[in-house]
Amino acid sequence: MNALSNTFDVAIIGGGVIGLGVARALAQRGVRDVLIVERSSLGAEASSAAAGMLAPQAEADTADDFFQLCCQSRDLYPAFAQSLYAETGIDIELETSGTLYLAFTEEDERELVKRYEWQTRAGLEVEQLSASTAKLLEPCISERVCAGLRFPLDTQVENRRLISALATANEALGVNVLTGVSVDSLNIKRNRVTGIETSRGFVACEKVVIAGGAWTSQVINEALPNPRIEPVRGQMVSFEATPQITRHVIYSPRGYVVPRRDGRLLAGSTTEHAGFDKRVTAAGVQSIVTSALEISASIARLPLTSTWAGLRPRAADGLPVLGPCAEIAGVFYATGHYRNGILLTPITAELLVRAIVDEEVSPPLQIFLPDRFQLVTVS
Ligand SMILES: Cc1cc2nc3c(=O)[nH]c(=O)nc-3n(C[C@H](O)[C@H](O)[C@H](O)COP(=O)(O)OP(=O)(O)OC[C@H]3O[C@@H](n4cnc5c(N)ncnc54)[C@H](O)[C@@H]3O)c2cc1C
Repeated sequence: MNALSNTFDVAIIGGGVIGLGVARALAQRGVRDVLIVERSSLGAEASSAAAGMLAPQAEADTADDFFQLCCQSRDLYPAFAQSLYAETGIDIELETSGTLYLAFTEEDERELVKRYEWQTRAGLEVEQLSASTAKLLEPCISERVCAGLRFPLDTQVENRRLISALATANEALGVNVLTGVSVDSLNIKRNRVTGIETSRGFVACEKVVIAGGAWTSQVINEALPNPRIEPVRGQMVSFEATPQITRHVIYSPRGYVVPRRDGRLLAGSTTEHAGFDKRVTAAGVQSIVTSALEISASIARLPLTSTWAGLRPRAADGLPVLGPCAEIAGVFYATGHYRNGILLTPITAELLVRAIVDEEVSPPLQIFLPDRFQLVTVS
């Protein structure tokens, strides 16, 4: 089929986990002609750079709407992983060992106590650990640990396997994919989208989902609200740990380590405003290695096997941008997932399908709608 000559029901800009997740959910709901347009290859950007942690409790200071959305998505993961396995035979390696959060200073400890207190008051599952219990759980933990928390429900997935599983599921469902093709702009006539202009020509479609990650704002024109998505660089380091030295994902306030079944131990990360520059720097690697060694001195003897960086998509207010655009019919946003796009993949897919197919803006979507941003003004 010459994909470009068809008229699509839905065209999705971007083939990261978000675009792939939304495409699969649309096809599963019976939307026939879905097209993903990806400038590079599927999952090539932030989605493959990520650490794969599904850890809303470990990172949160309040039970706000964003926290609720994150927990809801985390809780969808067991069924999501199971159905992806049934559809594709690919195991996305959802771990259930939980996440540890460690304190190494008095200030860290005060932070942990606050987190423990608000989460127990809110009825969330969290366990307080003494230094010796933490070390009993994970003997690799440094002698300098003062205290810890265990979040039994916070987990992780192997995000690169998640990309493969979603891509395979989409193929089986008949989703059309164009890689190596970029979308330049949306074609809008009388307040309705009619298609997209791509590097290979015009593609007609009824609806468009903008899932361009850190590059989202480059396809947004003056007719559309602009969440001013900026790229926030995160660098990562990988060690070879065979046998693996920890079962849990382990955080400190300064970094984290993530064990993978294939013997890699990932360590992250940095938070940098470096434009679209994805290069790894000496200072970035140094800060990640320092935080990893604080967690476990045993890491010092592990071979450092690779480094990489990715660009997290951050909207101006730091929150995801999800759902229909009120100004232009047929335009939907699924972007701005910043640090939590892997975690938020299942709930994003579910909410977007409800918005696109059922035309329902469900309550969790209300505060994440794109219309909280101004239209771009042209002078
Ligand atoms: C170091 C690091 C660690 C992270 N760790 C975690 C974690 O532990 N847990 C978690 O939940 N999240 C984590 N994240 C965040 C997560 O990776 C992102 O939120 C998520 O991948 C965003 O997915 P996406 O599909 O929106 O973006 P991307 O994966 O960046 O995909 C967007 C795609 O759109 C394509 N595109 C853009 N513009 C166009 C265009 N005009 N035409 C065609 N294609 C286009 C791009 O090529 C890209 O492939 C981490 C991120 C980084 C960098």
